[in-house]
Parts: sequence; C-alpha cells; structure tokens
Amino acid sequence: MSTVAVIGLGIMGLPMASNLSKAGHDVIGFNRSQGRIDQLVANGGRGATSVADAVRDADVIITMLPDSPDVESVAGGDDGLIANAKSGAIWVDASTIRPDVAIRLAQAASARGIRPVDAPVSGGEQGAIEAALSIMVGGEAADVEAARPVLEAVGKTIVHVGPSGSGQTVKAANQLIVAGTIQLVAEALVFLEAHEVDTESAITVLAGGLAGNRILDRKAAGMAARTFEPGFRVDLHHKDLGIVTAAAREAGVAIPLGAMTAQLMGSLRAQGHGSLDHSALLLIVEQLSGR
Ligand code: NAD
Repeated sequence: MSTVAVIGLGIMGLPMASNLSKAGHDVIGFNRSQGRIDQLVANGGRGATSVADAVRDADVIITMLPDSPDVESVAGGDDGLIANAKSGAIWVDASTIRPDVAIRLAQAASARGIRPVDAPVSGGEQGAIEAALSIMVGGEAADVEAARPVLEAVGKTIVHVGPSGSGQTVKAANQLIVAGTIQLVAEALVFLEAHEVDTESAITVLAGGLAGNRILDRKAAGMAARTFEPGFRVDLHHKDLGIVTAAAREAGVAIPLGAMTAQLMGSLRAQGHGSLDHSALLLIVEQLSGR
C-alpha cells in the first residue's frame, strides 16, 4: 500500500480520495477550503496544511483541480508540488487540462526526478463514488504501470493511450462526444414534450435501441424533471470545449457540431448558469424554441 496525496477534494477528488483510503492506502488530502479536508478525515484519510505538506512523503500524488492555471499554480513555485515531492514520486494529474500544458508540466516534473502521468477521467461523480471511472492515461509505460495499483482503486477501465499529453487529448475527444450527445438528447426531450409524448416511456424505448447512450440512461430523467444539480458544472464543460476547439484548430480539424455546442454552452454560462449541471443545455433548447 502506498502513501497517496490528493490535492483538490471537490466533486471528484473527495470520493476518489475516500476510495483510495477504503482500498487501504494511506491518504493525505489538501484542498483550498478546509470543509472538504474535514470530510476526507471523516472518511479515513489525513488532512494536510499545504500542498508541500501533502506531497512531502507521498509515493503517489494525485491532482484533481478545475483548470490548467490551477494545476500550474499547485505544481510550480517554492511551495509547490514539483519543488517538494520526493524524487521518484509518481504524479498523476487527473484534472482535465490543455494537452500542451500537460506536456510542459510533465517535462518540468521529469527534470526534478518526479514521474508524471496525465490521467484524466470520465464517468462523472457517480463513477468517482463507485470507483468505476474510465481513465485515459498518458506517460512513460513504466510510470503508468507504477501508477496502476492506485488508478485501480478509483477506476475500472484504465488504458495507456500514449506519451505525456495524450491522455488529455483523448479526454478532449470524450468531452466533444459528451457535449454533443447532451445537446441532442436535450433537443429530443423538448421535441417530445412539444408533441405531448410521455418522456419517461420515450426514454425507456430510446435507451433500448440504436439511440441508446449513457446520457439517456443517467441524465435524461433529470433533464425532463428540470433538476440540474451538478454533477459536472457548465463552467467546467465550457472550459473543456475551449480545449477541444483550440486543439482541433491547431490540428486543422473541423468540428462544426462541437464548435456549435461550445457556443451554446457559452451562452448558458453567460446567462448565469455556470454552476448548473451541463445537462442544463436543455434550457437553451427551450429558449431557442420559445418555450
Ligand atoms: P470541483 O470544482 O468540484 O473541485 C475542484 C477542487 O479543487 C475544489 O474543491 C477546489 O477548492 C480545489 N482547488 C482549486 N484550486 C486549488 C488549489 N490551488 N489548492 C487546493 N485546492 C484547490 O471540480 P470537479 O468537478 O471535482 O472537477 C475536477 C476536475 O475533474 C476538472 O478538471 C474537471 O473538468 C474534471 N472532471 C470532472 C468531472 C465531474 O463530473 N465533475 C468528471 C470528469 C472530469
């Protein structure tokens, strides 16, 4: 069993840290707000007073932070992760960030003897609670294998997809698919309601055919009931669609549906809905439909 530091104990980080503790690892957590640290301690972990305090004795460090600048700020500086982790420690960044930033941070970490792995996740809060995340892993094969026992305590599908940064590229593709799927499910639900079809029956039969997907299974009922408790916040998915749009432009790839969904997600955010679940895209469909 390893000593595992977890930095960022939000919607995803706290259940991941709790599952690591349940699996027998010695977990030490740090978060910007103390309340989340207290919750980890109640779940069997230990609390740290700073990033440096958390990482000092850790064999494996997991960061689960909102965005690229957050990971850069936790990683850098005299008080940061890279300066204070022990040589040979594995650093798993599970946050969703820009692939180019992941590559740059991996180079900085490697230069100090830290073994970097980018390991963004999919499966949402439910997947984190159930330790059933799908994890797309970038990095050196030996480092990925060394990280595997810890990843297995939080995820079910763990795939090494290539060198540093490629985990983030696969995650960007994941976010493209999820956003587009939510948008289409939202359009279908508003369409069904307009025709006064019972949405519960419609969701059941749609889920059993070729249109079946995880958004229908997990989110459509909540969307039909207009409950948009996150889950995955609009702010974060908007960030991810910015990552995909930039990376696609860089590669010369056209993503017309993704770009349009990014615009709709941006509009939802501009209207003050950044803290709702991303399935609130349905509100935009209603608005565009004058309903
Ligand atoms: P969140 O906002 O709930 O959690 C982030 C946590 O990091 C917060 O508790 C915050 O206080 C903490 N934090 C921020 N800056 C910090 C700092 N400098 N030092 C210490 N703590 C700091 O976000 P989340 O939903 O848990 O998402 C985390 C990451 O995982 C994001 O990159 C997101 O895109 C990705 N993700 C989220 C989901 C989901 O369903 N929520 C699913 C897959 C991936």
